[in-house]
Amino acid sequence: MRVISLSDIRKTYITGDVELPVLKGINLSIDSGDFLALMGPSGSGKSTLMNIIGCLDRPTAGTYILLDRDVSRASEEELAMIRRDRIGFIFQAFNLIGRISVLKNVELPMMLKGMPRDERRDRALELLKSVGVAHRADFSPLNISGGERQRVAIARALANNPEIIIADEPTGNLDLKSTEEVMDILSGLNREGRTIIMVTHNPEITKYCNRVIGMRDGRILDQSSMEESS
Ligand code: ADP
Ligand code: MG
Repeated sequence: MRVISLSDIRKTYITGDVELPVLKGINLSIDSGDFLALMGPSGSGKSTLMNIIGCLDRPTAGTYILLDRDVSRASEEELAMIRRDRIGFIFQAFNLIGRISVLKNVELPMMLKGMPRDERRDRALELLKSVGVAHRADFSPLNISGGERQRVAIARALANNPEIIIADEPTGNLDLKSTEEVMDILSGLNREGRTIIMVTHNPEITKYCNRVIGMRDGRILDQSSMEESS
């Protein structure tokens, strides 16, 4: 089943009088269960594309169909709902809140959805356990390791049980061991049937993916489908 379909997507940033064309006609389809790696030099537009796919930003032109909806024409309210319920985000810089506990960080998306307190606490603990950091529940994210932070961020991304996970350089700040741990978790989520779209500079970790896509100067380079790795 097709979950994402991008047709001639363009994005031009406008700063004052300066127009910067960043995406120059992206055509890309992603199916349910794909684990896609997007690679390319800095500045080629990878994060811009991820932000559009994740409905954090809108294209300047083109059509984006996500889960059978034309989100290029959706209202802000509709986009906010899709971000909350259908997509989990993981970033290189973790983006956790330092002044609340690990547990509260994971509870937050469920709180925003109005889930009762006990229920969301139980689910948050269960998610932390599933990524191996339940023992850090009461810590501040500032007082745990980088690998643990990213596992907490994955637990948070899973809070509302999204079918799509968007990961922008999820291992960019991690050492080799933590990279493998995080990739094993993502791989397991993919085997459960979640669609994952990941930006990475690390060719080693594309072995977890069934598709690797190159990007350069706002365009998709090549689209090679590989055998699904076991
Ligand atoms: P990548 O993730 O591949 O490194 P980005 O999508 O972050 O590339 O950036 C592509 C280009 O767009 C860069 O030249 C960057 O400076 C520019 N850019 C990114 N975000 C913005 C923005 N919000 N406003 C203006 N220019 C931006
Ligand atoms: Mg980037």
